[in-house]
Amino acid sequence: MAFKFDVRRANAEKKYAGDLFFSFEADPSLIGIPFVGFSSPVEARLRYEILEDDSVEVTGRIAFTLKGSCSRCLKETEQRIEGEAEGYFVPDCENGEDYSYSNGVIDFGEFLRDEVAFLLPARLVCSETCAAPGYKED
Ligand SMILES: [Zn+2]
Repeated sequence: MAFKFDVRRANAEKKYAGDLFFSFEADPSLIGIPFVGFSSPVEARLRYEILEDDSVEVTGRIAFTLKGSCSRCLKETEQRIEGEAEGYFVPDCENGEDYSYSNGVIDFGEFLRDEVAFLLPARLVCSETCAAPGYKED
């Protein structure tokens, strides 16, 4: 799967900002909820901006659907998950906080994986009753 973005080419074409769209099957092993899986591809709508020092700022939204057994009552349920995504990519970055890229090409694979993992809920619930506080997980 290709999540590459050619910063050099975008610079050469003076496309210093623009939109990116990725749609892909997420890694099912990211989900830690029993009997729950992805029921749609992950869709990432991102906006990039190349800054003067060639670092690249990416913001946008990520959405996907989870399907499986309610973590409380086991009823089959489905939930749309949507959230904001944000990443900062620095050429040959070594600070360990930002994403690094080299040779003028960004690979968004790790970033997208991180963002999906971040958005995943701890459990899947079918209704407000099942989502009510006071429920103890064992
Ligand atoms: Zn339920």
